[in-house]
Amino acid sequence: MSTPNVPNPPAANFIKNIVEADLAADKYAPRRWAGQPGAAADHAAAPPDAAKIRTRFPPEPNGYLHFGHAKSILLNFGLAEQFGGRCHLRFDDTNPEKEEQEYVDSIIDAVHWLGCSWEKDGETNLYYASNYFDWMAAFAETLIRTGHAYVDSQSADEMRANRGTLTEAGKDSPFRSRSIEENLDLFTRMKAGEFPDGTHILRAKIDMTAPNINLRDPAIYRIRHATHHNTGDKWCVYPMYTFAHPIEDALENITHSICTLEFEDQRPFYDWLLERLAENGLLQRPLPQQIEFSRLNLTYIVLSKRKLIQLVEEKHVEGWDDPRLPTLVGARRRGYTPAGFRLFAERIGVSKNDSLIDYAELENCMRDTMNESDARRIAVLDPVKLIITNYPQGQSEECFAPNHPQNLDLGKRVVPFSRELWIEREDFMEVPSKGYHRLSPGNMVRLRYGYVVKCTGCEKDADGRITAVLCEYLPETKSGTPGADSVKVKGNLHWVSATHAYAAEVRLYDRLFKEAAPGSGGRDFLDDINPESKVVITAQLEPALKEAKPEERFQFERHGYFVADRVDSKPGAPVFNRAVTLKDSWGKTG
Ligand code: ATP
Ligand code: MG
Repeated sequence: MSTPNVPNPPAANFIKNIVEADLAADKYAPRRWAGQPGAAADHAAAPPDAAKIRTRFPPEPNGYLHFGHAKSILLNFGLAEQFGGRCHLRFDDTNPEKEEQEYVDSIIDAVHWLGCSWEKDGETNLYYASNYFDWMAAFAETLIRTGHAYVDSQSADEMRANRGTLTEAGKDSPFRSRSIEENLDLFTRMKAGEFPDGTHILRAKIDMTAPNINLRDPAIYRIRHATHHNTGDKWCVYPMYTFAHPIEDALENITHSICTLEFEDQRPFYDWLLERLAENGLLQRPLPQQIEFSRLNLTYIVLSKRKLIQLVEEKHVEGWDDPRLPTLVGARRRGYTPAGFRLFAERIGVSKNDSLIDYAELENCMRDTMNESDARRIAVLDPVKLIITNYPQGQSEECFAPNHPQNLDLGKRVVPFSRELWIEREDFMEVPSKGYHRLSPGNMVRLRYGYVVKCTGCEKDADGRITAVLCEYLPETKSGTPGADSVKVKGNLHWVSATHAYAAEVRLYDRLFKEAAPGSGGRDFLDDINPESKVVITAQLEPALKEAKPEERFQFERHGYFVADRVDSKPGAPVFNRAVTLKDSWGKTG
């Protein structure tokens, strides 16, 4: 898929520069690859790794992916693609309690939808971290044997108290000096299920006075009597994330382990751990390097998992795929495009600076990609009748509308014209304001792709509400005929033949929050929900739209981009969602 309008040069991406420098220095050339993840011994006899670099996207399968994840996915898969590497999809499922198959499936769908693939040149790099538990436990044991880990039996409160603070050093645990034999025995019994949860914990033995609290003997294995979705009841000890993650990277030959900035303080432990394992011959060198970038934050939306769960569970939205949510399933249902996300990722770049991106930037990227790809159709969203009093009753004729004004290869289609049409209510004013060039008594406009008509008046009901606009057409002015230009007019209106129209449910989605920073200034973020984020109308659509397939998207002329809903559309009866308006209505002047 093409990516239009990428700024030239594209926005800075400092990680790309690191990769380029590493490749130029052949830094990762010595790595071998056994065709699957493994320890040093597994890779030793294998040929050199054909992948120049390896990156990974490592979601925890405990929720739906959101726009922030899209940035990470496109960065990791994009680097691999650009530099002759591979990107792994790795489910970080080391926590036994939270993972569910539903999330695994939805993550796979979302990564595919974004156009990324973990299958390349005969390799299928889809992994589950829980398959590495044997290695992790063995590595922990090596740390014990080499004096780099010990079993602590303090209570959680004692451990917290002895950890110290940012300004105060921590204190050694009374169990820190246990012998290697005792530690091995206790760890074996932890694994065997002899102890209840929380009674013992395995800790790395580093330095309780380290200025970086993450180096004050971090926990690496805890007791958890829980059934794991993959390994069942085989284990009752589970590795901590900060221990598991570097090992997962190393086993998979990852070269550039890219994560968000909050892990910066973990990097010293990441390096310490892998160094200890490599110096004992367990992991091959060169070791992976962790690189942090700033996470994506957007105005007018929330990306926090906790808040997203609250929105769904308290039914402020209609499920994880609600088109107003910043989830990728929501974006897909909304009609957002993978190409739009890619363009957005290119435009915002990758840096270490905390960035809050205006939601309008994302919308602009969507518009730009949709403008190129989407066929045009006609829809009247707020219909009022237009009656052409000099057009014969019961007659109709064909008009031709191009499917795309800039891409004539997309051809044209027939739109039927007849005596009674639907037009937008706002396209008529009985008493026109200054500069109003649409329909008003005595004024002439062109009915786009049809005729020039002259307004003769309107009909109203007892309350004074306009029920029909009346006009006469000029038969010699049909678009595409030699007389089309004989009468010059300023207005150019869209319309749909009333007898042929398809009356459809259309959902006008807008931003979920009305405040740029939901919940700022001490407000509850829920109070900032935009009450007009979903408005359901019945619109009059040109007949061709009746055949729209789920997920087919169009520009409704003058209105914006709309997609046939992939859930609620029935064959021959699609329902449409507004993805984005034609222009930004949230801008400072709007
Ligand atoms: P959790 O709080 O459960 O850890 P998470 O959003 O970090 O939530 P993960 O499944 O751990 O979820 O994330 C997978 C990857 O996506 C990680 O590498 C993480 O750094 C990245 N990621 C998550 N949120 C963002 C974001 N807002 N911007 C960029 N990358 C993100
Ligand atoms: Mg995370």
